[in-house]
Parts: sequence; structure tokens; C-alpha cells
Amino acid sequence: MPRDAVGITTTLPIEIIAAAGRRPIDLNDLLASSPSPARLVELGERLGFPQTLCAWNRGNYAVVKEYGIRTVVVVGSGDCSTSQALGELLEADGIHVVWFGYPPSRSRRDMAVALKRLAREFGTSIESAERVRLRLRPLRAAALEVDRLAWQTGSVSAKDAEWALTSCSDFLGAPAEYRRRVSELLRRSKGGSPQRGGPAPRHRCGPPRERPSGHEPIRLGYIGVPSLIADLYGFIETNGARVVFHEMQRQFAMPGDSRDLVDQYLAYTYPYSLDSRIADINEQVELRRIQGLIHHVQSFCHRQAHDPIFRRRLSVPILTLETAGPGKVDGRLATRIMAFLEMLQTA
Ligand code: SF4
Repeated sequence: MPRDAVGITTTLPIEIIAAAGRRPIDLNDLLASSPSPARLVELGERLGFPQTLCAWNRGNYAVVKEYGIRTVVVVGSGDCSTSQALGELLEADGIHVVWFGYPPSRSRRDMAVALKRLAREFGTSIESAERVRLRLRPLRAAALEVDRLAWQTGSVSAKDAEWALTSCSDFLGAPAEYRRRVSELLRRSKGGSPQRGGPAPRHRCGPPRERPSGHEPIRLGYIGVPSLIADLYGFIETNGARVVFHEMQRQFAMPGDSRDLVDQYLAYTYPYSLDSRIADINEQVELRRIQGLIHHVQSFCHRQAHDPIFRRRLSVPILTLETAGPGKVDGRLATRIMAFLEMLQTA
């Protein structure tokens, strides 16, 4: 890991880190893209992170140790109830922890203060960070274009769209490489034929479901925290459906016009009340003609408590999927997904 690397535990104002000449690296992405996320989660447990806290946190703790990351920015408010403990554990281990908090007031004044404090920690200025913001805007726009192509034309796979959006949290720590890979996705999609739902469905838990040729895939949205289930999107596509909306991942790309960093991080829905997330989801459900939502919840995550609220306030059927850690679609998940798709098909 390069010496200028700064680990981040979630989406946060990376423009400030980059303005300081440092390289933001999303610990979650290192975990999910490692050859064996399960090994890292287990390593986190062996290093002392409690098994009763979520797999993302256990894995992120191990990632910091495994990759020798010396500085980590932890979001202490507005993100994850466990992050505080993760940050304290890292500090106790001698890692330099920089704290950032999304202001609960969601006011311009408080956000400006929070951003200035972070800039001071890194020895840079908001003006420099604004220049980085302008350089990153085209990359965010490219990620959102990949997303648009995925849901509107189907010429980009759901998995690729999710990758392009999720990677906006750190731009792989290498914006030029991110630009190259997203440009390649966009180039490939030009003139590409729409993906109609994949090949004949096949899964070990049951016989392939037959679909008449030309049948449009069921349009699903995915809300909630990203999962560590490697083949989730593939499984959904081989069973006659397609994820056309990745709620949080799209937020990582910071959709919408913002005039400055303060606006950009106030518009980001995830750290604040559920109201803005629900408004965003309902808008996209309508725009993207979504027939059903998968609400992914991570075991031991406090955000599971949002599920009954989503069920009350979202307008389409919801399948709540709880997963514990890295792995593949198992029999339980497969049965539940297939039953949900069956229900949507006959609705
Ligand atoms: S899944 Fe929940 S508990 Fe785990 S890191 Fe994300 S917000 Fe925190």
C-alpha cells in the first residue's frame, strides 16, 4: 500500500484528502475485491474484533492491518453505529485516526464547519478541495451515465453499473485508472445489444425456470447497504429479473447539481434522516418502472431497524434479505429470491 494512502470507512469528502496530496482508499472496496473476503473477515475476528459486530467492520479492521494502512478517516456520526468502536480500536493499535462527522442538523453552516475541520486535519484548504471537486465531477457524471445506460437500455450489466457507482467512494485511489475503466464500459455499451435477462435460469436449488423468449426481465431496485454476496446480481439475472436501481451506490456518485462541496455532501442522502432516502427511492421507483425492491440488511447492523419504515412508506413490494458475511447465494437466499420473483411475475 502506498505511504500516502488514507483508509476511509465509508463515502466522505475525499476531495479534501486528495487536495492534501493523499490517496483515499475505501476499506470496503479493498475487502470486497480481495481474493478472499471471508479470510479477511475471519482475520478480523482473530485479531479481536467481536463476532457480534457486522462483517464489514470485522473485515475493514483486518484490511487496515493486512495492508499496513497508517491513517484512517472514520465517520463517527451519520454513518454507522459501530464505526466509533472501530475507530477507537484502531487508535488503540497506534493507527492515526482522523474523525469526520456528518452534522445531524444538515445545515450549510454546520457542514462548512465539518469540512473546514477535516481540511485542517489534512493541512489543506477548502479552496484546494473545491478544485479537486471540479476535477472529479466528470468522473461522477460518467458513473451516472453508466447507471443510466444500465437501467434505460440494458447495454451495461447491473454488476458493472454497481461497480462504477460504488467505486465513486474513492475512484480506486487512482482517478486516471477509474476514468480508463469507466470509459471502456461506456465504449463497450455503445451499439451493444440490450441484455434481456441472461441465459436460461439455472440454480442448484431447483430446475431452471422457463421464460418465453423475448420476455422482459422483472425490474428490481436494490436498497440498503451493499452485500458481500458475490453472485447476487448474476443469480437474479439468471432467474428472469434485473437490478435497475442501486440506491446507496448511486448516492456514492453524488447525483444532482451542487454548487460546492457543502451542497454536494448535504445532498448525499445516506447519513441523514430516512425521509430524504425514501423520497429518492420513490422517485427512482417511478422513473425506472421498478416492480419490486430488495432491501439488503447486514446481520448485526442497526440499519435493520429501518425495514418496517421502508415497508410502510415505499410503494412497491419489498423482499428483505439478511446476509451475514461473504459468500454465495445459498439455498435460503435462492428460495426467497425465487419466491419473490414468482410473486412479482403473477402480480
Ligand atoms: S452494514 Fe451496518 S453496521 Fe456494518 S458497516 Fe455498514 S452501517 Fe455499519
